[in-house]
This record gives sequence, structure tokens and C-alpha cells, in this order.
Amino acid sequence: MLVRLMYASRAADSVDQEALLAILRQSKAANTASGITGLLCFSGGIFLQVLEGGRMPVNALYGRIAADARHRDVVLLSYEEIGERRFSGWSMGQVNLARLNPALLLKYSETAVLDPYAVSGAVSMALFEEMVATASIVGPC
Ligand code: FAD
Repeated sequence: MLVRLMYASRAADSVDQEALLAILRQSKAANTASGITGLLCFSGGIFLQVLEGGRMPVNALYGRIAADARHRDVVLLSYEEIGERRFSGWSMGQVNLARLNPALLLKYSETAVLDPYAVSGAVSMALFEEMVATASIVGPC
């Protein structure tokens, strides 16, 4: 039973580039071990993350993430049972917004600023899919 979950959150003040890299390192190691794949986007103090994998490991991880003091205002945007993964190439890929054409953000939202709180979960998921298609994902698998 595979599921895909997406949430958004606001980073704690303490989260800088070093803290972000620490989260990515921790995620890649742990996700590989538990068969979880996905992407993490960080922009303007906002996290947007999609997690895919077995229902139990994904639910358990979301519980730990939601309790993590490194962010707040965690909001579940999408949760669905899936037949196949969309982001199987990444144990936790990092979305590089510097490589992202602002037109892509404008396609889906009022301004060229990433704000998952202001759009539907379906819109944020569509954005993730286009970022994968336009090779905006960086970092080793
Ligand atoms: P432990 O590592 O034992 O830590 C205990 C507590 O301290 C937990 O509440 C933990 O959240 C917190 N904590 C751990 N390290 C730090 C730190 N450096 N600074 C402040 N608090 C800390 N983990 C994954 O395995 N996969 C992911 O994809 C993933 N994505 C994440 C995305 C975001 C935006 C954030 C903020 C965290 C993410 N994490 C991810 C980390 C996750 O929240 C847990 O820290 C991790 O799963 C370990 O959980 P644990 O219960 O074993 O906590």
C-alpha cells in the first residue's frame, strides 16, 4: 500500500542554510532505510514537502515531522493512496528555486512567490511535477 503526502510549514527562525542541509542529510539517510522518497522545497521561510512510500512509514514520519521544533504551522495539503510513485528517483530531493523560471510560479499563483498557504494542494502538487519535469531538483539521491 503506497501513499503520497504533501504538507507545508513555516521554518523556525533558527533555520539557515546549514540547518537545511542537516535536515536534508538526516532525511536522505533515514528515508533510504525506510523506503520513503520525495522532495523538499524551501523558499522564503516556507517548507513544502512531498513524501511517498508505504502507508505506515509515511504516516509515522509525518507524525515526527509535525512535532519537529525546526518548523511550525504544519498543514497537511494532500494525502492519497497511489498505485505508483512520481518521485521515486529521490530519497529526498531538494528543489532549487534559483533554477526555477518565475513564470512557472506565476502559472499557478497570483505572484511569483512560493506560498502553498495561498493555493490548493492540487496546485502545489502540479508545481512539484513541473519542477521535476524542468529538472529543478538538485542534490544526490
Ligand atoms: P530525534 O532525531 O531523536 O530527535 C528528537 C527531537 O528533536 C525530535 O522532535 C526532532 O524533530 C528534534 N530534532 C532533531 N534534530 C534536531 C535539530 N538539529 N534541531 C532541532 N531539533 C531537532 N526526517 C526524515 O527522516 N525524513 C524526512 O524526509 C524529513 N523531512 C523533514 C522536513 C522538515 C522540514 C523538517 C523540519 C524535518 C524533517 N525530518 C525528516 C526530520 C524529522 O522531523 C525528525 O527529526 C526525524 O525523523 C528524526 O525523528 P526522531 O523522532 O528520531 O527524533
